[in-house]
Amino acid sequence: MICYCDSVSEIECEAINLYWEMDDSANSGFSFTVSELQAKFKGQISNLNTLIKKKSFFTFDSTSSACSWCGKRTIAYKRKDVLDIKKSDVYVCKTCIHEKQERERLEEEQRKRALFSAIKNIKKQMLFGKLSLSTLSYVEKFYLFLLLSEYYEADGEPLKIDVDNFCLAGSSESDHQYISQLVQKNVLISIKEIPDEIRMLTDKLVFEGPNAFSRHDWMGTARRSENYFISNPFKVGVYLCQCEKGGSTSSLLQTLYTDICEMNLTRRDFEDISILVESVRLGNLYDIVDWISDDCRIPVEKSIKLENLLKHLAKSYPLRVCCWLLYSQADKVAAHLHKTNTPSYVSKRLLAKKTDDYLTLAKEKGWEFSYTKKLPDDIETSALESLVADHFLEGHFNWQMLTTSEVIAGWTKNAKLVDDKTLTN
Ligand SMILES: [Zn+2]
Repeated sequence: MICYCDSVSEIECEAINLYWEMDDSANSGFSFTVSELQAKFKGQISNLNTLIKKKSFFTFDSTSSACSWCGKRTIAYKRKDVLDIKKSDVYVCKTCIHEKQERERLEEEQRKRALFSAIKNIKKQMLFGKLSLSTLSYVEKFYLFLLLSEYYEADGEPLKIDVDNFCLAGSSESDHQYISQLVQKNVLISIKEIPDEIRMLTDKLVFEGPNAFSRHDWMGTARRSENYFISNPFKVGVYLCQCEKGGSTSSLLQTLYTDICEMNLTRRDFEDISILVESVRLGNLYDIVDWISDDCRIPVEKSIKLENLLKHLAKSYPLRVCCWLLYSQADKVAAHLHKTNTPSYVSKRLLAKKTDDYLTLAKEKGWEFSYTKKLPDDIETSALESLVADHFLEGHFNWQMLTTSEVIAGWTKNAKLVDDKTLTN
């Protein structure tokens, strides 16, 4: 509907009518362009634009064109406003648009907050109340202490650990064994896939709302899964369950530390410690054998005989002495293989045989070994070794100069034997 202000002359009325006359088939949406009208009324109307601006406006008759926010009838002073109103499905006037955007922003924030908190609650339930220290053995507590000291990030976040590649004790076999024991005892929970319930909520975060990704675009990106995890407030990984009694992780660490130092051990704890120390040392010795095999270019077969020999070395000699013993025998094997044509089934067992012979001879003669050899670079002092040396092995900061028997004796020197029944498991 065209409205006229003040008194307009007949010719002005005609010009105003033609100015607002609409034509949906025309590109501009109007029947005449401004220059066409200026040409038509030349000499009769001095300034068409001023006339339109001062003496007319346009308003829609239908209520559907009213502002959906304040309900007021919409008035257009320019052709562009008319076109905007026609274009929009639900029109909001310029006065209301800011208020509308602000409310939408708040609603979206609220929606996201509700989703985040729903996810947080599910996560809390998953991790809640499963940790009971009383079920843990001494070595399990030791492992948990190391694990949290090395890999803990923040409450409710997974540990910064790559379960396929981490080192706590220096024996990957023991590391994996103890991690899975801690999982079995509900101390740790390993979540490999995002639970369906959380995935559903995360989808709402990612695919719904004004800033949502369209599913089509999302699926199209090659890095979908990676992006999904970035947007996801829930990460897969290994989590620490919460304590039955609640409490912070730092107080948990303190309790574990006290238990570690108090050394109230059951018979099984004594055995666990022995097995652990021996397996760390055996792992070190196998690393040394691998290095020697490369360095001296001799084949070495992993056999029961070799394993028993290494176990004997571990118990009887410090690691650096073992390294010298094995290396000096490997030198002899290399020289022998160079001189004679030896069949492979013999050559790969020669290191074990020569070392065995040499140890027997040394025993007969009552020799003691004072030579040592620097360890290969890939043998590092593990977190466990470092902590045990620091706390229980006076004068040592690693185990290299000690036999396994000495490490075990030193570690358990001030232990108090307690009844196995005090442990529920
Ligand atoms: Zn409005």
